[in-house]
Amino acid sequence: MPRYVYDFDEPADGGRDLLGGKGIGLAEMTQLGVPVPAGFTITTDACRAYMASGGQLPEGLEVEIDEHLARLEQTSGKRVGDPEDPLLVSVRSGAAASMPGMMDTILNVGLNDAAVDGLARRTGNERFAHDSYRRLIQMYGEIVDHIDPHRFSDALARQEDDLPGLIETFKGIYEDETGQPFPQDAKEQLGRAVRAVFESWDTPRAKAYRRHHHIPDDLGTAVNVVQMVFGNKGDESGTGVAFTRDPSTGEQGLYGEFLADAQGEDVVAGIRTPQPIAEMKGQLPGAFDELVETMRRLEEHYKDMQDIEFTVEDGKLYLLQTRSAKRTAAAALKAAVEMVDEGLITREEAVSRIDSGQLDQLLHPRIDPDATYDVVARGLNASPGAASGGIVFDADTAEERGKNGDAVILVRWETTPDDIHGMIAAQGILTAHGGMTSHAAVVARGMGKPCVAGCEALSVDAQAKRASLNGQKFGEGDVITIDGGTGEVIVGEVTLIPPEINEDFETVLGWADDMRRLKVRANADTPEDAAKAREFGAQGIGLCRTEHMFMAEDRLPIVREMIMAEDEDERRVALDKLLPHQQDDFEGIFEAMSGLPVTIRLLDPPLHEFLPPLEEARDDRMRSRIRALQEANPMLGTRGCRLGLQFPEIYEMQVRAIIRAAIAVRDRTGETPLVEIMHPLVGFKEELRRLRELTIDTASAEGEVEYLVGTMIELPRACVRADEIAEEADFFSFGTNDLTQTALGFSRDDAEGKFLTYYLQEGVLERNPFETLDQSGVGDLMRIAVERGRAVKPELKLGICGEHGGEADSVAFCHRLGLDYVSCSPYRVPLARLAAAQAVLSEAGIEAVSVGG
Ligand code: PEP
Ligand code: MG
Repeated sequence: MPRYVYDFDEPADGGRDLLGGKGIGLAEMTQLGVPVPAGFTITTDACRAYMASGGQLPEGLEVEIDEHLARLEQTSGKRVGDPEDPLLVSVRSGAAASMPGMMDTILNVGLNDAAVDGLARRTGNERFAHDSYRRLIQMYGEIVDHIDPHRFSDALARQEDDLPGLIETFKGIYEDETGQPFPQDAKEQLGRAVRAVFESWDTPRAKAYRRHHHIPDDLGTAVNVVQMVFGNKGDESGTGVAFTRDPSTGEQGLYGEFLADAQGEDVVAGIRTPQPIAEMKGQLPGAFDELVETMRRLEEHYKDMQDIEFTVEDGKLYLLQTRSAKRTAAAALKAAVEMVDEGLITREEAVSRIDSGQLDQLLHPRIDPDATYDVVARGLNASPGAASGGIVFDADTAEERGKNGDAVILVRWETTPDDIHGMIAAQGILTAHGGMTSHAAVVARGMGKPCVAGCEALSVDAQAKRASLNGQKFGEGDVITIDGGTGEVIVGEVTLIPPEINEDFETVLGWADDMRRLKVRANADTPEDAAKAREFGAQGIGLCRTEHMFMAEDRLPIVREMIMAEDEDERRVALDKLLPHQQDDFEGIFEAMSGLPVTIRLLDPPLHEFLPPLEEARDDRMRSRIRALQEANPMLGTRGCRLGLQFPEIYEMQVRAIIRAAIAVRDRTGETPLVEIMHPLVGFKEELRRLRELTIDTASAEGEVEYLVGTMIELPRACVRADEIAEEADFFSFGTNDLTQTALGFSRDDAEGKFLTYYLQEGVLERNPFETLDQSGVGDLMRIAVERGRAVKPELKLGICGEHGGEADSVAFCHRLGLDYVSCSPYRVPLARLAAAQAVLSEAGIEAVSVGG
């Protein structure tokens, strides 16, 4: 029969997964000799069995609990339900993953009408005994029997000074609500409390928390039965919380709060204001010294910053919990660097301790954690950072206001490449439509600008310059704040904290660089982005999307001329005008990257994206051209290499511009750019064979420069036929945005905000596949492509340039897959550097621990 219960002093094999975070902490502290109340842990296995059976305690559990309770009676010298000196316990939830405050805990289990008198006599403190009993009835009633908390709190407010009377009132409420008297049998109380804690795993708030933090629903919680110690017995008692280092800065020293003559729940409930922990020294010097020494030992043992809860009962210290402290990114970096200096941890351990997702805090302004504000709506957290500004509804106004130095938020149904100048001028972008790989999201991320996308509660009438958010009306100039890290939209201005890159950041990322195997490149389309990318440590450009250059103000008219051309000759005239601009762009990027590899992707989007909407066409000719280019599924239509094959003169111009730029930069700087020319949306070997030929023919006419020719892998067919395609390619770069779209059959422009949002809410899918790689589906196609490609060409260079290249779990997957590099927007480069190192460490058994704030 499986075993379900372990005393704190008994070693158990299952670790945190079996005992939960609180349970493993109590067990380890007990075994270390740290003062901890006695008790035992009922495992997560028991909870899972309870849930699986639809609410039956697994066979044997009750007997086991009885045995461990008997043992607890022995160690404590007290008996459960003893009217002279009762053993009281707390019944505490504690899952493997931290879910602060989401599940339930019941204190003072074991008290009843007789035991309360015993407790009063034993402690000589009648008030304390009565208060303990009323707390039990209240918590038990609320948690076990789901009685409306107001019934108790209203009575408490009326009768606070008459505790014996209050107990009678509470018992009356209990009986009134449940039809039963308050249970006097301590074992019955304990049994029902354990069930209630199991059930608190599945409350709506716990489920919502898990969904938000990607914690699986089937883990279950452990239950800790802990002998009660009392911080509310008088002046020699108290309770508090403390950190071994400052959780907001990482500075060494004791940080925390203390409340004399109180129980932990008083601190949580904020009924009384606690004092700084330093003041405990004067009041309870012995316990304070022991606390300081114990915390030093705990940090030394766990080799990490700890966050503890403690109680002092009649001058004696007890620790009730220890865990890795939640901390800001700045604190995480400082503590990691200092602990390496102190010899407490290795560099590897330091790198594994940083939550890569938290680095964003250091790269973008964010909302002051102490600020209070109301959230009016939520959308997708498409690009991190926070910004406040006046609403503008079009890119031109954004640019105009931006030039005047006004802070603006560009609010659109969705953005198009036409909006780029407005996006540059705006502090942040808010859209009603579109997902994590929408234009707004991708471009904002590239610029390091906050963006909340797909905000369903937003409706926009750009013509009338009006918007509404959850029914609240806004006009141009009305100030809002967006938080692209959380997806929150707030009315009015909120205090922001500026970015805080510092020496600790450079130090830890430097260590990460020494450990990782994957190279990290950036997706960058301009010399400015390229420079930013290098600042953040990029080792090359993995994707330069040339279409973004076509959108610039001085190019768009020429591009339109090219699209409107009647025949090839006319098209070539326009392309000749475009060529010097393209060449300029490439020269700028090559210079910024001084000799590092630069992957340039030839034109990808369908041509209609460069034309105005039909209603805005200037004449009949344009209207008919727009109509001719219209397709029902443009993302599956005439785009990518299909365009290049049908209109070879476009790609020829681009290749010419690339090669001329490379030669010019080589001659000017003496440094030869490492050029990689990339063809998009290839599915057939024959497509790439023809385009490779076109590339080589065009390039060789320009002069002698070395370059590679490769392809994006962004169609399932390209993955399964990677062996054939590899014959024509020097490199592959996985375009996982399109590969996700085409493998899953999910439109990257429409799925979010529609069925995908529903899927995520309802748990059909756990993660958004456009944000984190669908490893078992899309990832398996990638594995096939890697195996088949490398079988034909072992030296084939492999990378990824979809948005997943900047997401930690996906980066780890790419490492395991054996890719050579990941490429992501410049602002995500630090994250990718860290995640790539953590992937190596995890293979060596040093798991990254997520203790973000
Ligand atoms: C991709 O499809 O993953 C990609 C990088 O290309 P784009 O997002 O420009 O389609
Ligand atoms: Mg693509």
